[in-house]
Amino acid sequence: VKFVRSVMTPAITIEPETSVDEASRIMIQKGVNHLPVVKDGRLVGIVTSWDIAKAVATKKTGNVAEIMTRKVITALPDEPVEIAARKMEKHNISALPVVDAKQRVIGMVTSEDLSKLLVR
Ligand code: SAM
Repeated sequence: VKFVRSVMTPAITIEPETSVDEASRIMIQKGVNHLPVVKDGRLVGIVTSWDIAKAVATKKTGNVAEIMTRKVITALPDEPVEIAARKMEKHNISALPVVDAKQRVIGMVTSEDLSKLLVR
């Protein structure tokens, strides 16, 4: 069995006060589609490129707090990758922030990371 810990990658996090504009630039600069939102070190939301596109379409271009998804589906480092894959499938999402027991973000597991396991 493979565990999330062995396939996760470093997370690029932002804060609720980060502007939508700045978040879009960070995504391009870092080449990521998912930005977990962290307040006082704890996970409070997630913003994806899909949310940014929607914000632009509806002209909601304030802070990410206004557009982030607050109920975040997460993974634990000691969770089997099959469980993480099932969560993504069930919720139609492609990445899960990996959190510790105190809801601190310690990484990110994406569908890309998981598909790499198949070709290894
Ligand atoms: N059906 C579209 C697609 O396939 O691209 C949208 C996928 S997903 C339902 C879009 C929403 O999921 C976004 O608003 C995003 O914030 C949210 N999302 C992405 N990852 C998430 C996660 N780990 N936990 C909760 N919501 C998440």
